[in-house]
Amino acid sequence: MNLRLAKNSGFCFGVKRAIKMALKAAKENHQTVTLGPIIHNPQMVSKLESKNILAVDNISQIKNRATIIRSHGVKKNVLDRLKEKEIEIINATCPYVSKTQKFAEELDKEGYKIIILGDKDHPEVKSLYSYINGDALIVANATELPDMSFKKVGVISQTTRSINDFQKLVSELVKRSEEMRIINTICNATSVRQNSTIELAKISDAMIVVGGKNSSNTKMLAKISGKYVKTYHVETACEIKKKWFSKTEDIGITAGASTPDWVIVDVYNKIIEIIGKLDKKIEKVEDIPGFKEER
Ligand code: SF4
Repeated sequence: MNLRLAKNSGFCFGVKRAIKMALKAAKENHQTVTLGPIIHNPQMVSKLESKNILAVDNISQIKNRATIIRSHGVKKNVLDRLKEKEIEIINATCPYVSKTQKFAEELDKEGYKIIILGDKDHPEVKSLYSYINGDALIVANATELPDMSFKKVGVISQTTRSINDFQKLVSELVKRSEEMRIINTICNATSVRQNSTIELAKISDAMIVVGGKNSSNTKMLAKISGKYVKTYHVETACEIKKKWFSKTEDIGITAGASTPDWVIVDVYNKIIEIIGKLDKKIEKVEDIPGFKEER
């Protein structure tokens, strides 16, 4: 039986950077909070809590602690209020997300009707929307577009959406717009993980997708993988079931950009235990067959 991990699985550049910033801040200042969970992974959030980095839901709970802004950003007015209150800000917004916010502002100023491909309830999209003064539309896919045509339309995307959905949205808008500006704001880390997942799903009998049930990029990997092969989305190793592997020869594992290495390692070792290859247990994600760290 083969057990492989999709190359480019787990933490992306932006998440690694945010966690590093949080841990550094905790070392230097014991009074640190994150505004909202720093990433969509409950295991990582608990780990940070154990280091006294607490996640709070709103500004009133901050109580003058240094405040870490999560990798997917916060609304513009929230940043303004923190500044007004002279709260120390440690801005761990991923540079790719900041860039998307700038594009939104730019398109808005130039008078484009902005269309965002994304999940309207996702913090990144809420933050993005707050940088637009004019009117903007948020759609989860091309079918959600209202039945209308546009004069001047600017298209951007939540960084973690699939390139395929973005292409479908753009093709639909081309038919209905006089002028269009398309900025592909989908993060490379997302597409690289999606492609590696497809590659592995194609040669596997079952796929295990590891990551937060609240993580949009992990959910997207599960959705994509499910198109090719039976797929199970788990948050931790405890959820793995023996019956999933009764008729499998090739098992694939993939993990979202917010999944910590140690969670992936636990899942790998749990499957190894279930399929009876105890001699193959590992300690580092780099030792799992198939894994390749991206540059
Ligand atoms: S997925 Fe991309 S945009 Fe989002 S935090 Fe990671 S590197 Fe940044």
